[in-house]
Amino acid sequence: MLTIEWSAAGGWQAPLIKPLGNLSLHPACSSLHYGIQLFEGLKVYRGDDGRLRLFRPMLNMSRMTNSAKRACLPAFEQSELLECIRRLVEVDQDWVPHSDSASLYIRPTFISTEATLGVKKPARALLYVILCQAGSYFSSEAGGLSLWADPKYTRAWKGGTGDCKMGGNYGCSLFAQYEAVDYGCQQVLWLYGEDHQITEAGTMNIFLHWINEDGEEELATPPLDGIILPGVTRQSILELTRSWGEFKVTERHLTMGQLCFALQQQRLTEMFGSGTACMICPVGHVVYQGKNLHIPCQDNPSQLTSRIAKELTDIQCGRSPSDWTFLV
Ligand SMILES: *Cc1c(COP(=O)(O)O)cnc(C)c1O
Repeated sequence: MLTIEWSAAGGWQAPLIKPLGNLSLHPACSSLHYGIQLFEGLKVYRGDDGRLRLFRPMLNMSRMTNSAKRACLPAFEQSELLECIRRLVEVDQDWVPHSDSASLYIRPTFISTEATLGVKKPARALLYVILCQAGSYFSSEAGGLSLWADPKYTRAWKGGTGDCKMGGNYGCSLFAQYEAVDYGCQQVLWLYGEDHQITEAGTMNIFLHWINEDGEEELATPPLDGIILPGVTRQSILELTRSWGEFKVTERHLTMGQLCFALQQQRLTEMFGSGTACMICPVGHVVYQGKNLHIPCQDNPSQLTSRIAKELTDIQCGRSPSDWTFLV
C-alpha cells in the first residue's frame, strides 16, 4: 500500500510504499466520527501487448481534489499522486490479471486523522492507496440489471455532496439498496424532486437511448447539476458517441414520466448504467409505482452498449491507440 501523511504544521510527508497492513488511529479521529473522508476508484488493465494501462487517471486526480476541497481536506499535487500510484502499481504489477474481463482495482482513500472531537477542519490527514483484483462487477445475468425506483429515498440533493466521492454518500444508501433487494431488484434507481427525475442507478451514472419527443435519435444522461457524480466513464461515453456524430448526444433532465411515455410509444431502445466497476451495464427492468417496466436491451443484436463497451475496452487494452491511456 501507499501511504502519505499530512499535517497543517509539517505539510505533506514523503510517500511510502509498504506491505498492506492495519492502520493505527486515535479513537477520536474525525474521519470515524464525522465522516471526514473520501475515496476514488480506477483500474489498471493489462493490454494484449502485456503493458499496463490506466484509463484517464488525471480525471480521478482532479475529482479527488474536488472531493478533498468539499471535505475540508488539504490539496495535493495531482501529478505527484499519480506518479506515486504508478510506482505502487509497478511494484505490484504481477497482481494485474492476465485477462480481458479482469483488472486490478485501485482505491485511493483520503481520511482525516485529526484526534479531537471538535467538528472542525482537520490539522492531520492520511492519504493512502490500496489495490485489489476485480472481475466483472455484476453477474451478467440475462435480461439486464433490475432497478427499483421509488422517490422515498434521496441519494443526493442540491447543495449536498452527491457530486463528490465521499463515504457518507454510500453508507447512507445501503438501507435503500436492501429495500430494492426486497422488491426483487439489484439496485436503486435514484429519483429526485417532485417530477421524479432519473439521476443515477446504484453507484452508476445512467443513460437513455431513444427516439426523443421531437422524433430524433438521442443518447441522453442527466446534467452535472450538483446531484450527479461526474463519472469518468460517463464523460468518456459522451465524448466517444459525440465523436461518432451519428445521433444527438445530450445532457438533460430525464423524468420517470418521460421514460414511461417513451416505453408506451416504443421509443426507448436502451437504458444503461456506467461506471469504472462494470464499465457499462444494460438495464432490463425498472420497478416503479407497482409496475415492472420492461426495458428493451438484449433483444437487439446491434446494441449500442456492446459497441461502446468494445470501443472503450479496445482503448483500455491498447488495441486502439488513444491519449486516454496512461502507461504504467
Ligand atoms: C464512482 C461513481 C460513478 C462512476 O464514476 P466512474 O468515474 O465512471 O467510475 C457514478 N456514480 C456514483 C454515485 C459513483 O460513486
